[in-house]
Amino acid sequence: MVVDDNILLDYGMKPAEPPQYPVGGVQPDSVIVSHGHLDHCGVVPNLMDMKPDLFMTPVTKDLGVLLAKDTMKIAQAKGQVLPFIIEDVRDFETHTNTVDYGRSFNASGYEGTLYDAGHIPGSSSIYLENESGSLVYTGDVDDRDTNLLAPAEKLPAADIAIVESTYYGTEHNPRPKLEADFVDSIKATVDNGGWAIIPAFAIGRTQEVLMILEKHGIRSWVDGMGKEVYKIFKRHPDYLKDPVRLDKAFKFASPVDGRVRRNVLDEPGVVVTTAGMLNGGPVLYYLKHLYNDPMSKVLLTGYQVEGTNGRMALERGHYEDKGRIIPLIAELELYDFSAHSDDSGLKEMVRNQVDGGCQVVICVHGDRTSEFAAWIKDNLEVKAIAPDIGDQIYI
Ligand SMILES: [Zn+2]
Repeated sequence: MVVDDNILLDYGMKPAEPPQYPVGGVQPDSVIVSHGHLDHCGVVPNLMDMKPDLFMTPVTKDLGVLLAKDTMKIAQAKGQVLPFIIEDVRDFETHTNTVDYGRSFNASGYEGTLYDAGHIPGSSSIYLENESGSLVYTGDVDDRDTNLLAPAEKLPAADIAIVESTYYGTEHNPRPKLEADFVDSIKATVDNGGWAIIPAFAIGRTQEVLMILEKHGIRSWVDGMGKEVYKIFKRHPDYLKDPVRLDKAFKFASPVDGRVRRNVLDEPGVVVTTAGMLNGGPVLYYLKHLYNDPMSKVLLTGYQVEGTNGRMALERGHYEDKGRIIPLIAELELYDFSAHSDDSGLKEMVRNQVDGGCQVVICVHGDRTSEFAAWIKDNLEVKAIAPDIGDQIYI
């Protein structure tokens, strides 16, 4: 989203095959990044030759650098066009202004403030204000307490609210029940002589899952980029709910590197590994050895995007590896440890905005943004818009 033609809020990519990048030229003076997920920060290094002012939390900056280098590595390995070069990533790293929650900064004539969004470490909602009015962009937001993070901070009301809509129309299962079912299933699998393979996103989910396992005394292996991300989180303990517990969880688990990966399968056990949607990463190594083992189980830990291996496995019982379609004989289960507010959380957030005087709500980031906008119009009696890509909104 571009505000006043010169403040860009997030600049991400869709990690599809091949990846999809933003279209249309933007020439922002300022770029404010809500958090370090690919679909929000993934293409920011591409803007470096315009020398915009960059604002984000220090965790988001570090995650942005890690993801940018990973994006380049994947594109190079697959012979795809690179969206930026390593000098851009270095510029991104050197020129970003890091901003902690609650500290104000000046972005193209607006006073900006970041608020803790509770979604992943360093994630923020963005508040902008000048003499003509105010705007809030929620980014991805989670109003629930998890092992890794405290709930999102309450946002100040603004004239205009840009609101994520990911889980509009869906309620989450109560967290304690979800954790208990997850743990029971893992224990049963290992007791029966199988392996519990837990695909988990590198950023946030791997760490959350390890904290759950440690809490229940379950030893595991941890493989993939989640280990690098943990090192980043360790550098920013103020952005974690309980850094000591996170350290304990990682010490309780055994890290896997290339050399010991073979040994992991010597005896039944638990493996937490990327990629969370089975699209590449070490998880494919484990599946190659266990796909046809009926005693083993794959426990997905998050939403599976259309077109990913995880979604294909859920809907059709098979996945793809190097062009080969492989039937998944091992059991498959889905535990949605979502890091987003659910339907009631989103509605309450919008209601708080409207109660505080917000006049326009813009619904983004979801499959059902139009329905969410219609609900807001009908129930809260303010203007609500679900824009398409490329739409311009004048307020
Ligand atoms: Zn996100």
